[in-house]
Amino acid sequence: MKRKSKSLIVMALCFTLFVSLLGGCENKKNDQKTDNSSESIDTAENTGTAESTDNTGSKDTSAETAMKYTPGTYTAKADGKDGTITVEVTFSETEITDINIVSQTETEGIGSEALKTIKEQVLSGQTLAVDAVSGATKTSDGFLSAIEDTVKQAGGDVDKLKANVVAKENEGKVEKLTADVVVVGAGASGVSAAVSASDKGAKVILIEKTATIGGASNLSWAGKFYNSSVALDNGVKVEVEKEISDWIVNNHWRVDAAAVRQYVTKSGETYDWLTSKGYNTTFINFGGEQLHMLPPYDTRQELLKNMLKESVEKSGGQVLTETTGKKLLTNDKGDVTGVSAEKKDGTTLEITAKSVVMATGGYAANAEMVKELFGFEGINGGLGQNVGEGLKMAWDIGAKVPDNVGGQMLHQTLSKATENLKKQYDSFEASYPLMLSYLPNFMNVGPSGARFRDEAATLTAVAAANTSAFNGPYHMVIVSKQQLEKLEEKGMSGVDAPSLPGMPPEFYADFKDQYTLENPWKNVVKVFDSMVENGDGYKGNTIEELATNAGMDVETFKDEYNNYMKAIKSGVDTEFGKKAEYLTPMGEEGPYYAVVAQINNLGSVGGLLVNTKFKVLNDQRVPIKGLYAVGLESEGVLFNDTYVGNGVGIGYSFTSGRLGGEDAADYALGSK
Ligand SMILES: Cc1cc2nc3c(=O)[nH]c(=O)nc-3n(C[C@H](O)[C@H](O)[C@H](O)COP(=O)(O)OP(=O)(O)OC[C@H]3O[C@@H](n4cnc5c(N)ncnc54)[C@H](O)[C@@H]3O)c2cc1C
Repeated sequence: MKRKSKSLIVMALCFTLFVSLLGGCENKKNDQKTDNSSESIDTAENTGTAESTDNTGSKDTSAETAMKYTPGTYTAKADGKDGTITVEVTFSETEITDINIVSQTETEGIGSEALKTIKEQVLSGQTLAVDAVSGATKTSDGFLSAIEDTVKQAGGDVDKLKANVVAKENEGKVEKLTADVVVVGAGASGVSAAVSASDKGAKVILIEKTATIGGASNLSWAGKFYNSSVALDNGVKVEVEKEISDWIVNNHWRVDAAAVRQYVTKSGETYDWLTSKGYNTTFINFGGEQLHMLPPYDTRQELLKNMLKESVEKSGGQVLTETTGKKLLTNDKGDVTGVSAEKKDGTTLEITAKSVVMATGGYAANAEMVKELFGFEGINGGLGQNVGEGLKMAWDIGAKVPDNVGGQMLHQTLSKATENLKKQYDSFEASYPLMLSYLPNFMNVGPSGARFRDEAATLTAVAAANTSAFNGPYHMVIVSKQQLEKLEEKGMSGVDAPSLPGMPPEFYADFKDQYTLENPWKNVVKVFDSMVENGDGYKGNTIEELATNAGMDVETFKDEYNNYMKAIKSGVDTEFGKKAEYLTPMGEEGPYYAVVAQINNLGSVGGLLVNTKFKVLNDQRVPIKGLYAVGLESEGVLFNDTYVGNGVGIGYSFTSGRLGGEDAADYALGSK
């Protein structure tokens, strides 16, 4: 990574952080102090940022700022991340007195927590100047816009409420804490590091930016723990040496062979370790791959919290949520000596520790950084709060930006149409366009109208995502009238689908019963017409019309279409070698539709170079004393420029956390 790029990255980060700070401050009364033994110093005056603000964060009902409403209860709806949020808001003549969330389907533990936080802030501050909750931006924005709607209905002044910025109660206050090991970030890797460090006898403080424990593991399906006891019990064994050498070749040798070996040979133990901690996974033989399905979604966070309670908290450590790591503390030799962090109420925490473990999950939500480092402009399907703060903290004190920085976890295909269709149709029908994008039987073209791959690539998540991303932020799946008729009549078997679309299970959880190859796709034409009406796909009575409407180059698309028709007729695809069995007839007549398929980036991979003790290296590739990195931010040692694998994200996060936490504890306690 060159210096120029490094400074651009830092600028991108600064911009993102600046924007996220603009939206106003929180006003909630200070949480109780978590550690009675911590020192507490007031270093600055608490200065409010708006006229209507007082230092205590309490509501201001002075004549100048008092609001006027028509008393009553008003209802409004808005789109959240996963569906409609309906609210009933009650107003007195001068105040918002209650917010009742009538219905919502937001992600349990993330979106649902955000709703509670925002409700509390709006009510206690009588304000709409409320930041979106980290990791739940869509939920927060939807909820706030529904409340805004009710304010308008009640005759209130929305602009005035948005200007009512309430200062953080404890801005300027500094608290000092000490620990042996501080872990920054409480995803799978951070929790594992905290628990394993604590089990080694270290006093651990774990800080987490959001109110949620578990990070992206809460959204994931399965992890790979090589040759785990359960895999072997089920008769599925991986040949270790072959796996390692294939891995290295498949990543063009540009990986750390020792790190690959460590993951392949040590991850099996992680399965037993998790089981011993009560985090039970279920083995799946996934075509010979050893996957372990994570516990049910609604139990995971509690299981991780319990692990922390039983080790970190029982042995005198702390878990501090809604606390954001801001800066690494160093001594005059450049060794890391702790972390400076900020609590939700504005208090600065200065935590002194021998070892600091970075586990902040990368920067996939920082679009500028992803574009700068990887060139990808598609969708972020990972955590909205992962904007690269942890990487910046480490780079600022001299951590090396690895040569292969930029890798992303492109692993899913989405259809632009799904979200709007879900408002009009049941889940199965709304997912028709999405399902087509996971089948090899349809012509796929890039934005220009040129075909770009053997569509059988759709059968493997990584191949599907990366072949598409190389061609831009989206591609189009072309489907003809004849194919829609076959789908309507015989379901996916009507278009010769070889197997069910390989979508992640959460995509079809709510229509599992209908998810068969034979189930007829009723209403399919209506659904596709709605997709076009919603502006989420294209239609044309002729090939030329489709190309024009979809913004393709008409001549390019015509040529490609004609070549594809020849391949269907002859059974030989001279352009991409697609097997004859996937060259499903399209018929000769329109209309034709184009589904817009987008690529979902689940996370950034890498950013810090580590050795096999998870010590972060500097520009000379020498460990920075006291600094460790685990999880996604250290995962660049396993992959060249992009994530290749199933279950490695989860498998490596738990494994690197477990091992890195032990190393950090050993260093802190002086045994290494
Ligand atoms: C939708 C989805 C599905 C997935 N499915 C799978 C799957 O089936 N199998 C698989 O192997 N992988 C999957 N992955 C990838 C896998 O979840 C991740 O690789 C893994 O969970 C990353 O763990 P982590 O601990 O490194 O980071 P994260 O889980 O991202 O945790 C980082 C934590 O750090 C916190 N944080 C960020 N900045 C700060 C800061 N400044 N201060 C304090 N805290 C901070 C964040 O809030 C977060 O809690 C999926 C990812 C997504 C998004």
